[in-house]
Amino acid sequence: QELRELLLSRIHDVPDYPKPGVMFKDITPLLADAKAFAALTDALAGLCERHGATKVVGLEARGFILAAPVAVRAGLGFVPVRKAGKLPGATLAQSYELEYGTAEIEMHADALVEGDRVLVIDDVLATGGTAEASLKLIRRAGAEVAGVAVLMELGFLPGRARLEPALDGAPLEAL
Ligand code: 5GP
Repeated sequence: QELRELLLSRIHDVPDYPKPGVMFKDITPLLADAKAFAALTDALAGLCERHGATKVVGLEARGFILAAPVAVRAGLGFVPVRKAGKLPGATLAQSYELEYGTAEIEMHADALVEGDRVLVIDDVLATGGTAEASLKLIRRAGAEVAGVAVLMELGFLPGRARLEPALDGAPLEAL
């Protein structure tokens, strides 16, 4: 509860960003606060241990900032899932539905091996589309899903429900 209060106090609401009517959750004040960032990193690293993760996947771009120190703290490797066209090697790609149109994410085809258990980390779960696509990539790579961990879940959106089938029983943790 104390952690939750600390984290919430460092996330700022920015109205009408990136477009009118949207309330954006800005995590940059949290990143700038050494104590809050360290507490978040420790909590996420604890989830890696609790759920038996062997790899940490970070979702571009804010997921990278959170997942990289977690991987180091937990003693695990870090694997980036990027927007299409950014990774240099052979990739697996997964497209997903946005409110208007579609988007595509990619992961290096050899980044995960069979037997890996992967914790996916991102800052915010909104509609769940990005996280859902990442879980499909992980399973297509032959790895297991240890869970999804986010700093913040937007409870007024149906992200958790959308993610449920892809989770297939794995936990969704929102700090
Ligand atoms: P989803 O695919 O769940 O709709 O969107 C999640 C992705 O969009 C995440 O990668 C997250 O970084 C970004 N996102 C959506 N809304 C917000 C927000 O209000 N604040 C932040 N920081 N990221 C957001």
